[in-house]
Amino acid sequence: KYQYMLKGFDQNWSPPDKKHSATYTNLDPGTYTFMVKGSNNDGIWNEQPAEITIHILPPWHQTLWFRFLAVISLLLLIFAVFQVRTKAIRKQKVILEQNVQERTLALQEEVQQRQAIEEQLREANLQLQDQVDEITTLKDQLHELAIRDDLTGLYNRRYLNDTLKIYIANAQRENKPISIMLIDIDRFKSINDEYGHTMGDEVLAAIAKKLDTTTREGDFACRYGGEEFVIVFSNLNLDNALARAEELRQSIAEMPLGKTVQTRHITISIGVCTFPDLAANKDDLLNNADDALYEAKRQGRNRVIAYHK
Ligand code: GH3
Ligand code: MG
Ligand code: MG
Repeated sequence: KYQYMLKGFDQNWSPPDKKHSATYTNLDPGTYTFMVKGSNNDGIWNEQPAEITIHILPPWHQTLWFRFLAVISLLLLIFAVFQVRTKAIRKQKVILEQNVQERTLALQEEVQQRQAIEEQLREANLQLQDQVDEITTLKDQLHELAIRDDLTGLYNRRYLNDTLKIYIANAQRENKPISIMLIDIDRFKSINDEYGHTMGDEVLAAIAKKLDTTTREGDFACRYGGEEFVIVFSNLNLDNALARAEELRQSIAEMPLGKTVQTRHITISIGVCTFPDLAANKDDLLNNADDALYEAKRQGRNRVIAYHK
């Protein structure tokens, strides 16, 4: 009979048997010693077992070099995947950056366009404002033209008619007097005849300027007709109006009137009337002042006459 044991695998000897073979499957790689001993028919075992050393080599996929190669391959694979991924991300990043750049450029262009449009709008607004200002100025000028006399620059008869009404209404409400002077240049026709119409115009303008400077705030002078003027004084009674008229008459009589005309003096006659004492309304005031002026002319000119009822 035989007994065997694979040292490195078996713990004990196999049971005695007459078989001539021993089978091991799926042995792990390694070094084993196969020992076998036999007994004779008397049941005596030889004490020195026969031994044979067996080397089981590992399969190729369990070898060190294969594992090493596998690890290297895995590392290479990971590296390759990493590379590919990094490359893809880089590519994506470049595309993204390009997109951002394009979008930024587009936005910048849009902003510039908007700024340009805003600038144009601002300019258009400025031009519009200029035009509005110009129109306002023109309107003011037109209004001035409508109420001013060309030659003298004083207010005209239309302005007098419109404004005197308002003055009288205000005076009535405030219970205050209004006085007017109706002024006519004495023998003015002879100035034209002697020195010519142009010189006559200059004298008219010079006298108008003088009249304008005698008015105070709230008073105004206007050209009533050819060589006739009206000055309206708010809050001035008859006595004070007469005093002011006398002052004016004297100062005109003493006024130098330029090189050619200075040889002779210009005089004026003044009719004075006061609302409400001597006139009930605007037309009364003007008509009565005219009566007084007529009286001044009749009495010899170069004088001031108040209206008598
Ligand atoms: P008086 O008033 O003292 O009675 O005499 P006058 O010569 O001033 O009176 P009249 O009304 O007869 O003449 C006024 C003159 O004023 C007639 C006209 O030739 C002149 N005249 C009127 N308007 C203008 C004007 O704009 N320019 C000039 N140069 N003369 C004018
Ligand atoms: Mg006259
Ligand atoms: Mg006259």
